[in-house]
Amino acid sequence: MSTHPVTCPTCFEEFEVPLPSPDETPCEVDYDCEVCCRPMLIAFDSDEDGEVSAWARGLGE
Ligand SMILES: [Zn+2]
Repeated sequence: MSTHPVTCPTCFEEFEVPLPSPDETPCEVDYDCEVCCRPMLIAFDSDEDGEVSAWARGLGE
């Protein structure tokens, strides 16, 4: 399974998240930071080549 680096919106540390398959995107999942354990939302989307990217944002933003 491939992963993608995201930056935690709370502690600004970077960590890798597992990517869903392209046909499951776009989607958003709740995720807990692997560094500070604070919750965040991670948005996944894919381009026309089936390349999946991920972005993290804080809850309530
Ligand atoms: Zn964090």
